[in-house]
Amino acid sequence: MTRRHVPEPSAGLAGRVALVTGAASGIGAATAHRLAAAGARVAVLDRAFEPARTVAAEITDRGGEARAYRVDVSDGDAVTATVARVVTEFGRLDLACNNAGVPGVLADTADYPPSVWHRVLAVNLTGVFHCLQAELRQMRRQGTGGAIVNTASVAGLRGVPGASAYAAAKHGVVGLSTSAAVEYAAAGIRINVVCPGLVRTPLPTFATADFAAAHPIGRAATPEEIADVICFLLSDAASYLTGAVLPVDGGLAAGTVRP
Ligand code: NAD
Repeated sequence: MTRRHVPEPSAGLAGRVALVTGAASGIGAATAHRLAAAGARVAVLDRAFEPARTVAAEITDRGGEARAYRVDVSDGDAVTATVARVVTEFGRLDLACNNAGVPGVLADTADYPPSVWHRVLAVNLTGVFHCLQAELRQMRRQGTGGAIVNTASVAGLRGVPGASAYAAAKHGVVGLSTSAAVEYAAAGIRINVVCPGLVRTPLPTFATADFAAAHPIGRAATPEEIADVICFLLSDAASYLTGAVLPVDGGLAAGTVRP
């Protein structure tokens, strides 16, 4: 009988260099911890430097390897410089999770403050573009492939009344990611998207208890439940997955209305 090789969900993470944005808190911090626990060497990027340093210190205290970097992903030049520093200090870049995001405010479209619209798009969409571009250039230069996961949201699949800027940005992340996935598939660089529903982090400031209950599973996710899926998508266990847009939402996008 032929023996089949069955990859572990963390296969191929050990020794790889991984970059995570928004890694000082929530889903990004959980992802940095999970990647490090699987043996990856992790660059912890965030606009909030002290909490990023804390995450990196927690990882090193547990025997992992991590360094913190301060960067605002809406600043393209700063992203380019930071990715270059990561490559200088770690030697290469194999994996990335572009995850930094802000919620914006709750207001219907006619009353949505343009300044907040611009900031939400600058961080949640253009920030992903800046990171993706710097990462792809480095991976292309290395010529050994790579894997990238971008954090969108169920708001990238559906409209969200009161959060049009957030939904527009997240729909943009889906379109950006699927386009790039096709562009770089032949180069061995896989790009996938996770679309969480409600996750227990500081971000969803305006989500209600009713919204959590609307998830068919009946509760919000923990950050670790999203991080585990991100790590799977970054691992060799997902070697044939690219351009996937994966709801990780307790069934929210599958439909909630019972006739
Ligand atoms: P969080 O607030 O816990 O973490 C977000 C992190 O991003 C913070 O550490 C923050 O400092 C950082 N950040 C914000 N703006 C930045 C910038 N300009 N440059 C660099 N870092 C910046 O939130 P989270 O829930 O972990 O969110 C992570 C991602 O998941 C976001 O993209 C968010 O839109 C998405 N998401 C969250 C939920 C949820 O319910 N929590 C649901 C769907 C999608």
